This record gives sequence, C-alpha cells and structure tokens, in this order.
Amino acid sequence: MIVRLHAPMTGWVLPLDQVPDPVFADRMMGDGFAIDPLDAMVRAPCDATVIAVAPTRHSVTLRLANDAELLIHVGLDTVALAGNGFTAQVRDGEAVTLGQPLLLVDLDPVAAQAKSLITPVTVTSDGYAVTLLAIDTSVTAGDAIAEIAPVASDAAATDLGEDTAHCTIRVPLANGIHARPAARIVAALKPFTAEVTIVAHSRPANARSIVALLSAGIRHDDEIAIGARGPDARAAIAAIVTLIEQGMGEEAHAAAQAAPTAAISDDGLIHGVRAAPGLAIGPIFQFRPGDVAVTERGSGIPAETAALDAARNTLLAAADGKAGAGADIAAAHRALIEDPELLGAAQGLIAQGKSAGFAWRGAIRGHAEAIRATGDRLLIERIADLKDIERQVIALLTGTEAALPIPPKGAILVADELLPSHFAPLAEAGIAGICTAFGGPTAHASILAASAGLPMLVAAGAAVLELSDGQQVVLDADRGALNPAPDTATIDAVTARLAQRTARVAAEAAAALDLCVMADGTRIEIVANLANAAEAARAIALGAEGCGLLRTEFLFLDRESAPDEEEQRAAYAAVAAGLGGRPLIVRTLDIGGDKPVAYLPFPHEDNPALGARGIRFSLARPDLLAQQFRAILAGVPAAQCRIMLPMVIDAGELAAARTILDDARAALGIDTPVPLGVMVETPAAAMLAASLARDADFLSIGSNDLTQYALAADRGNPAVAAKVDALHPAVLHLIARAAEGARTHGRWLGVCGGIASDPLAAPILIGLGVTELSATPAAIPALKAVVRQLTLPDCKALAERALAAATAAEVRTLLEGAA
Ligand code: PEP
Ligand code: MG
Repeated sequence: MIVRLHAPMTGWVLPLDQVPDPVFADRMMGDGFAIDPLDAMVRAPCDATVIAVAPTRHSVTLRLANDAELLIHVGLDTVALAGNGFTAQVRDGEAVTLGQPLLLVDLDPVAAQAKSLITPVTVTSDGYAVTLLAIDTSVTAGDAIAEIAPVASDAAATDLGEDTAHCTIRVPLANGIHARPAARIVAALKPFTAEVTIVAHSRPANARSIVALLSAGIRHDDEIAIGARGPDARAAIAAIVTLIEQGMGEEAHAAAQAAPTAAISDDGLIHGVRAAPGLAIGPIFQFRPGDVAVTERGSGIPAETAALDAARNTLLAAADGKAGAGADIAAAHRALIEDPELLGAAQGLIAQGKSAGFAWRGAIRGHAEAIRATGDRLLIERIADLKDIERQVIALLTGTEAALPIPPKGAILVADELLPSHFAPLAEAGIAGICTAFGGPTAHASILAASAGLPMLVAAGAAVLELSDGQQVVLDADRGALNPAPDTATIDAVTARLAQRTARVAAEAAAALDLCVMADGTRIEIVANLANAAEAARAIALGAEGCGLLRTEFLFLDRESAPDEEEQRAAYAAVAAGLGGRPLIVRTLDIGGDKPVAYLPFPHEDNPALGARGIRFSLARPDLLAQQFRAILAGVPAAQCRIMLPMVIDAGELAAARTILDDARAALGIDTPVPLGVMVETPAAAMLAASLARDADFLSIGSNDLTQYALAADRGNPAVAAKVDALHPAVLHLIARAAEGARTHGRWLGVCGGIASDPLAAPILIGLGVTELSATPAAIPALKAVVRQLTLPDCKALAERALAAATAAEVRTLLEGAA
C-alpha cells in the first residue's frame, strides 16, 4: 500500500543531503526529506497512529497505514533542550488524521538554543521506498510532498552506499539499555571507526556516548534503528547487533520497576525500596548540600578549554588508583568523564563564551534532565553519578568544595538522592540510616551503604523531603518502609529489637578475639581473606587468627606497570607485620580470566575463564613467578610464611612451581622449606586431591571458581547468578572428594572462597572435613559465634544429608531446618 505524505509544517522542503547533520544527511535514520519551518505547529502528514512522542517532546514517531514508521524530528540536537519549547498535542498510541496537530514548537527560544530548526522527516523502518513529489521549494502545511511504498524487506544490515549501513532490531534486554549495556555498547565500538547512531522513540543517540544512550531511554522490546557511517560501518553494526541480540547476560523478561511512592500510604508508612538491610531509629536530618557558584562568563576559549581538560584529567588519574567496591564506581565515573557527548556539549558552551565550570554544569544538567525525562528508574539511578562528576570537576575548577552539612550522630539522613562521594563523610559522622526520595538499589551510594552495613531505603518518594528535621522516625529497611510517626509501643518494640541486636553483635565482638573451638572441643581456625596491609590490622581486630588468602593480584591491577621485586617485598612485609606474627598464606599472582592486567599482554582469548589464568600464566612467565617467590620469601618472616598456588589442575603444575620456589630459596640462601599449598578451584584438582595432597602441604577450596567450573555457570554473569551456588550438591561432592584426598596424606583442608564467610554453610563444610575457614574480615565475629555452637558429629550427619540432596535448593532447605 502506498501512503502519501503531506507537509507537516509550512516552510521550505529540502533534500536530506542538505541537512547539516550526518546522521540524517547520510540517511542513517532512513530516507525522507526535511523542512525548514516557518510555522510553529507540527501536523500529521497523513492518517497514522502515534507510536511515541519523545519524553523531551522534540520528536514524534508515527505508524502509517502501510506499517512504515515515520520520524518527525523537530530541529537538530534539540534533545538537549530537555523538552523546553515543545508542547505535545497528542499521546502515545493515539490515532491521528491528516493535518491534526502533533507538537507545538515555541520557535524563537528553540531557534536560539538549537543547532538548527531544520526538521527531518524520515522513514525509519526497513523495506520502504520514498518517492519525493516536491523538493527544494516552499510548501504550505498539507501540500503533498512524498509517497512511501513497501519494497521487499531485508532484516540484515542494509548497505546505503559505500560507507553507510543501517538496520532495525528489537531490544531483548529486560531493563533496556541501562548503564551496563550502554557501557558495553560503547566498549564494543572502540575497535571501529564508523560513526554509529541508535534511534529509539525517534531520538537519535550517539552510540559511543553512555549519557546519550541513557538519555535515549531504550526499554525492553523497543524497536531501535542503528545507523553507521564510515569504512567499517557494516562491521560496527554487526558487532552491536550481535551484542544486543544476545542479551548481554541480562534477563529476558522485563523486571518490575519500583516507582517512588508519592506519599504516606494507608498503613501510615512511607514505602520505598530496600538498598541496604537493617533497622534504625532516630531523628530526621534533611541533607541539602548547596552548589558551588560558578561564573557564567569565561575568560577565553583556549583558557577555559585547558582548565576543563586539566580538571577532567586530574579526576581520571584519581579514578585509576581505586580498588574494591570503589573501583567499580571509579570505572563508571571514568566512562562519564570521558563521554564524548558530555564533553561536546560543554565545549559547545565554552565556544559560546561560557566558563568551564558553567559549561560543565550546563552539559551535565542538560543530560541529567534528558535522562530523568525517560522516567526509567534504572536510568535515573545514574543521575547521581553525573551530579557527582559535576561536583568534583567544579571543585577542581574553582578550588572550592561546597561545605557539607554534617548530620548529628544517630540521625536518619534524608536526601533527594545521595552522591557516592558524599557517602564517606556522612558515614563517618555516625548516621544511623539513610532514606532517599529518588535513587535506586543499584545506585552507587546504595552499594556503599550495603558494604558499610548502614540501613538504606531508596525511591521513597518526595514525601520524605517534607519530614521535619529532628522528627523521630523508624527506618525499617528490611521491610522497605519508614514510619514517620511511630507510636510509643512501636518505638519500644524497635528499641528492644535494636538492643538485642547490639548486645548480640557486642557479645560476638567480645568473644571474637578468642580462638575458635567447637562445642565438642574440635579446633577450627578462622582466618581472613586480605588484599593489603590496611585490611590486615582490621581483620585482627575482628578476631582473625591469621590470613588464609592474600590476593596478591591487587598489587598488580589498575596501574601502568608491574610492581618490582622491592615494592612487592615491602607490600608482603607490611601485611605480615599487620598480622603480628600470625600465619600468612600468600597466593601467587592470579591474573587473567576476570582480572586482566593491561601491561602484561595476554593474547586474545575467546574464553578467558578457561584460558591462561592463575598458575598457567605464572608457569608461562617463570621469571615473574621466581621474582614473586623471592619477594615473598624476603618479605614474610619464615614462621608466618605459607605460599598457595591458584587454578591448579594436577601435580605436574605443583611440581613445576615447587622447582621454581626451590631455586628462589637457593638464590636467597634460605634452607628451611616453606609450606606450599594448592587451591582446589577446578573439578580436576578436587578429583585428583589425593595425588595433589601427596606433594602439597595443604589444600584450600576456592569455592568461587570451583562452583563456576563445576556448574558451568560464569561467576560474573548476572543471567546465571542464581545458579552459582556453592552449596549445590555437585560442589559439595567435589569438596568431600578434596577432603578425602587431603586426609589420605594427613594434610589440612581449608575454604577461602565466598562460602567460607556464610555462617549457614559452616556446619556442612566442617562436616565434610574442612578445618580452616578464611572469611571476609567483617564476617568473622558472627562466624566464630556460630561455629562455637556446633559439634563435629552433628556437622558430619548434616553433611551426609546434604550430599544426598538433589539440588542446591534442597540443601538450603535442609540448612534452614537445622538452623
Ligand atoms: C575462589 O575462586 O574461591 C577464590 C578464593 O579465588 P578468587 O575469588 O580470587 O578467584
Ligand atoms: Mg579463584
């Protein structure tokens, strides 16, 4: 069926080639025409159905009677106006007739702020031919302009000439293109030179920009058009189509979106989303930090550009040094600081004579508004990160930090949302809990609250911002609610619960420094997993009896070159000193897999988890292994020193490593042998534990890797996260096999993977034959308290039953019954 299009506005109709934006001129958004408008009303060019008005109201997509999709994009770069100057006259899904008003445009302010008013009208779906009836002429709204006719369709990327291609796909990702998929798209495009644009809801977004992709508000099941221009246009499109269509490890079904509630609900509570568990009672403290003022007028384009570059570079350098949970946040911030759209918007403002600070703030706020306009909770959670880099860059530019209002100890802090960089000073002030009106459980401040053990409720709605300072409230993050006016009975009950919890934690902390002995007298060593010397002192204070796993790779990650022997020696010596003479198990370098190191080049591996990681890398670089052995031997006093090898599969690897260790000892003139153990992280090592134990001094289960390899479930892939359960009976059988092997040769068996920190799992592990648990330091007091209640015969009986279970769920049910 042929559909005739009529001019949507009065003006001059011109060919797309004359549109000063390659996205349209090169037909990445499909074929069509453009209008340079003289009137303010955009009208329907034919009878159609409105697919979507962009949240920022600068464009509209229509479905025509022959199923073609038509994009009317008012002006160029108008998404950045965040809806200012546009009024929608129709709603999504509405049927419209030829000439019916669609959008009202306030031409003067839009013309003043946008790159151009030229309005491209393009067919974004594949398989349609456009025949122009009028071009390079003035038209009045309603004049016939073009005809759209279907042609044979082709789902693959369509060549649009030598260097351009485009295609249309549907997004299978449950939560659409939120921050992580956006970052992966940007990364996937790095090897290509083509300019790539993604259009959704009639909004084109630069596919190399995380903020642009977030602002596009791409959701589950949206149809998106991808256009590319450049010598490798088709290959670039193929790369991202494959990435998106394969789902990037996201769930295939749309997840429930938690929307902020507007007010106090019928039960008298304000409901939100739990971001970090816990219960707290205290006075409200409304946290409203101000902005540092910036002057609008700049002092010249070169000076302002240089100032902005210097501030961004300083932040990029600071982001490089972060480790642990901070490293993930730093990586997200680094991507935003480097984002080409943000930078482009700021440079555009500097070019108009604005100061660097004014331009950076303007760029960030424009994008934040566009993201907020999507209404998508997951995307909106990233606004705090944008605001954080705004604050940090402006602090560097002005040399001034806005003074932070400091809450009283014990307060329940309330904010619209919390920036990650505000978190540390607030936590240090001793707040009891946090409740935010916006934000979400995956926002970075939420992750920090969870790791600091502070209860936090997010997305509680603007009602919380109305609560008065000093008002006593109960924050029950476990139940996702804040009680703004608790009665006396509630206050008493909560106070009692908190007192019980405090007493239990205090009792556990007081007993934490004692050795861990089970109720029947069996000795179990509880030691800590560490990454550096600072953690060692904290672990000892929490009751660690030594270190069961020092992850030495942290010394090698996030830097430009490898630490030399002396730097390594000093680092290992500092950890040993922090442990005050207690045993220290140093694991040799475990890089590769999910821990790549830029300056130690690995050949490309399709499947790095099964590649040259751990001991395989070390044996391929015996020079580095020998250097690490020498640094350990020189840095750690002999009485404390044990060495452990990661990712071993058989005694051959152990023997090869031991030869290098013996040579290192000889080089340093050390006669006494050093205990050398292996991690049981592969099913191979578990099956061959007896043969390994003949030559190894001890074995330690790396349950994180052992689980992923036993269950064929990538430990870093959220799509299979529920399957990566170390209590799966298949994993327990491998641990039992390792225990049997260790026993045969009188070696001890420990566990240093994540499951060692779970008090619920302790009876099974002990029942299987484990005598050492190496846990995360914070888990140690509670772990010791639980183990002290157990007896070995009970643990053995429980382990037998767990081995007979068919699924991880059955094992967990068994444990809940036993707890
Ligand atoms: C493990 O795999 O369980 C382990 C302790 O090693 P990592 O987590 O460092 O890979
Ligand atoms: Mg491991």
